[in-house]
Amino acid sequence: MARLAVACRRCGTRIVVDDAEPLPANFPFCTERCRLIDLGRWFDEEWRVAREIREQDIEQTD
Ligand SMILES: [Zn+2]
Repeated sequence: MARLAVACRRCGTRIVVDDAEPLPANFPFCTERCRLIDLGRWFDEEWRVAREIREQDIEQTD
């Protein structure tokens, strides 16, 4: 049984996981809050990209 220390992708808090047990639900984040904040950031970036592509598509089709 090996223990691994991983830093939370959002805030850097150390998460200790055991390789004999399933990963925590919020891995690689320390808490659900960190996971949701990071997820929200990704969605925000995807929205901006989607909007730019849509505008270009309309210009080309017309
Ligand atoms: Zn965190």
